Amino acid sequence: MSLLDLFFPRKCPYCLKLIERGRLECDKCRSEFPKEPYIRTIPSGNECVSAFMYDSKIRDALARYKFRGKREFYKSFGAVLANAVAESEIIADMVTSVPLSKKRLHMRGYNQSELIARELAKILELDYAETLIKCRDNLEQHTLNHEIRAENIIGVYKPIDKINLQGKRVLLIDDIVTTGYTLSECCRILSENNDVDITCATVATAF
Ligand SMILES: [Zn+2]
Repeated sequence: MSLLDLFFPRKCPYCLKLIERGRLECDKCRSEFPKEPYIRTIPSGNECVSAFMYDSKIRDALARYKFRGKREFYKSFGAVLANAVAESEIIADMVTSVPLSKKRLHMRGYNQSELIARELAKILELDYAETLIKCRDNLEQHTLNHEIRAENIIGVYKPIDKINLQGKRVLLIDDIVTTGYTLSECCRILSENNDVDITCATVATAF
């Protein structure tokens, strides 16, 4: 065991068992990964590919990643999602992600979806670009009932000024898809002045 491993032990994101440096998850969790990606259509009509169902194990892993500072878990999520995207035979020119507001980004220190998206882009050898800004914090979607979620998201995102997506095939990344309203709104904004083909991809799907 190296000194690095002694002082900064690596843990499996899904079960917290200690793993060797260079590994992203333990063998047992890896053997239980879904064999095929989940594909659904979100309200905007775009397709969304997900690597996992949002069960208790994945919920806990994502919660540690987002709320308990386990930043390094992005590597496993990025790799698993890259695999799901490759298996779905999606063709994309570039990768982008759902942004956080400045305030939320400052609080968390990182955009969880961006880290996953950048890792996935690296693995699939695609360009990564920021395309959207979250201009204000809405109420958190998961705290609201489904009828209100669709309205809560309107006007929250805007495109980055200079971004030109004309004719591009874009892969839009988020950590979780539930109702699909957040991703749908991002697709709507990105498609507003562009003839753009967007596919969404998330680590987990709640449906
Ligand atoms: Zn494990």
